Amino acid sequence: MAQMIRRTEPCPICQMPVKTDGAKLVTKRDGKLYFFCAPGCRDKFLAGGRAAKPKGRWGRFLDRLARANAKEFGSSGPTCCG
Ligand SMILES: [Zn+2]
Repeated sequence: MAQMIRRTEPCPICQMPVKTDGAKLVTKRDGKLYFFCAPGCRDKFLAGGRAAKPKGRWGRFLDRLARANAKEFGSSGPTCCG
């Protein structure tokens, strides 16, 4: 199923509009493309956004993301910091 891509898409981490034309920082997850304003935002997204954040909508989003990560990569996560 094709995803509708606009000329700009909000960065999923900081909501900055990102030009999709010629975008280099793109990640596909759950069949959806995500565009990032900076490598740091993509890293956060790929890491599951484990930075300290207030609970609430954002927390639930991270929980969902963590579950998606666990499904995709296993629950052990990256081994760099063990
Ligand atoms: Zn960003």
